[in-house]
Amino acid sequence: MRRLAVVLLFLLAACSPVPGSAPDITAGPTGAPRPADAAEVSAPPSTPEATPSCDATASLRPTGPPPEPGGMPPGSTMAKIAARGRLIAGVDQNTYLMGFRNPGTGTLEGFDVDMAREIAKAIFGDPTRIQFKVLTSDERIPALEKGEVDVVVRTMTINCERAERVAFSSVYYQAGQRVLAARGSGIGGPDSLGGKRVCATKGSSSLTNVANVPAKPTVVSVPNWTDCLVMLQQGQVDAVSTDDTILAGLAAQDPYTEMVGPQFTQEPYGMGVPKANEDFVRFVNAVLERLRADGTWAVIHQRWLGGLDQAAEPPAAKYRD
Ligand code: GLU
Repeated sequence: MRRLAVVLLFLLAACSPVPGSAPDITAGPTGAPRPADAAEVSAPPSTPEATPSCDATASLRPTGPPPEPGGMPPGSTMAKIAARGRLIAGVDQNTYLMGFRNPGTGTLEGFDVDMAREIAKAIFGDPTRIQFKVLTSDERIPALEKGEVDVVVRTMTINCERAERVAFSSVYYQAGQRVLAARGSGIGGPDSLGGKRVCATKGSSSLTNVANVPAKPTVVSVPNWTDCLVMLQQGQVDAVSTDDTILAGLAAQDPYTEMVGPQFTQEPYGMGVPKANEDFVRFVNAVLERLRADGTWAVIHQRWLGGLDQAAEPPAAKYRD
């Protein structure tokens, strides 16, 4: 059913000219069914004051260029992955442009999916030696803690709270949180969210960020970002707030919506790795160094996010040791 909805959204986006004004979907809840597990958030999951401080974007320095495919150091995490025959990567299937299932082919595509394939390519010399495990925002950290995935490449903001539970690569993309609303709604950014209902996914830093803006909107949590778009379309929320990368994908699927207001947070994306696998963090960082230097990052960026930030450079890596 959800697949059908996504297909329809794609068709709509492909066929419709951008309208001058949006239909009136701001009248309030319509009685239409809500996504499973949608819930009003009564208290923010954490506050800026409660969050530990650290230099979480400083990662572990590579020991050198990545070893040749097939030549992983004996006993290393990379050698174990090579022996298994495939990399297991946690990705999204609901976020157009970043990690989504192409309804025409059934394959997973997007910026994060391409980045994950580059890690598989570095181990095997073959980007298709990868098994994707689809994760919601809320499932990312538990999947890493349980060792169900080797790496999570899923619009994951590096922060100190998360860095206590998982390890992060160097920053591979710098996003920022904004607001998406219906065209002509009058909503202009985080300051105009007072008394409004705003959607974000459970387990995302977006939910915490928007729940803590001074305007104090009512925050509604759902499992997937596409659920937020459907709730906006049905008039069950007034706005969606998350990273500009994700909102760009939602806006591309529905020309009646638009991103408004400034970026009001910094969301540095890192690849998540189980905390014990320091050798794999250094390896991933070596691969990222190469992708920045040889132009691969720029090609992947242009393919998916060129419309969002034309002149973007890959973020420089920062290391702590
Ligand atoms: N970057 C934010 C986060 O890591 C939002 C992205 C998401 O949840 O998919 O929580």
